[in-house]
Amino acid sequence: MKSYQTNNPKETQALAEQLAKLVYSGLVVTLQGDLGAGKTTFTQGLAKALGITSRVKSPTFNILNTYEEGRIPLYHFDAYRLENMGAADQGFEDYLGTDGVTLIEWPQYMADLLPNDRLEMTFTRMAGADSDREIVVRGLGQAAQIEEDLHG
Ligand code: ADP
Ligand code: MG
Repeated sequence: MKSYQTNNPKETQALAEQLAKLVYSGLVVTLQGDLGAGKTTFTQGLAKALGITSRVKSPTFNILNTYEEGRIPLYHFDAYRLENMGAADQGFEDYLGTDGVTLIEWPQYMADLLPNDRLEMTFTRMAGADSDREIVVRGLGQAAQIEEDLHG
């Protein structure tokens, strides 16, 4: 487990830029944290670092947005609306662990579909300044190497 502190959105995106150097096809990254914790801000930083120029926003209504114009495909999930639906049987597993890197906001609502090998990131607002965040990173299985190599 590694823990980082960021003090503004740019620092959160700088960490995403470091992660972008390490991602590989098939990697799944779960982004946990409350509304406003910085999950989408982080995803925007990663997308930019992969060379994606279109605007990235939370796919709250369509659950999955796909970006193909970067170094590798980016699959961005926001599973919030799956809370009472169940994620299985909706075809989403086809996107997990395939040709791209997959980032998942609200992964607890896709728990049945998450691979054992994954990078878990948890975003927490810290007491004190409004823009202070703690970001905890834990690599499971093959993703343990990413945790080790990541330097924020
Ligand atoms: P989430 O996707 O987790 O709901 P967002 O990334 O959409 O969160 O929103 C985070 C909000 O918090 C943005 O308005 C962003 O500008 C602000 N913010 C302030 N400080 C930080 C920080 N250190 N890291 C990320 N976002 C921050
Ligand atoms: Mg979001």
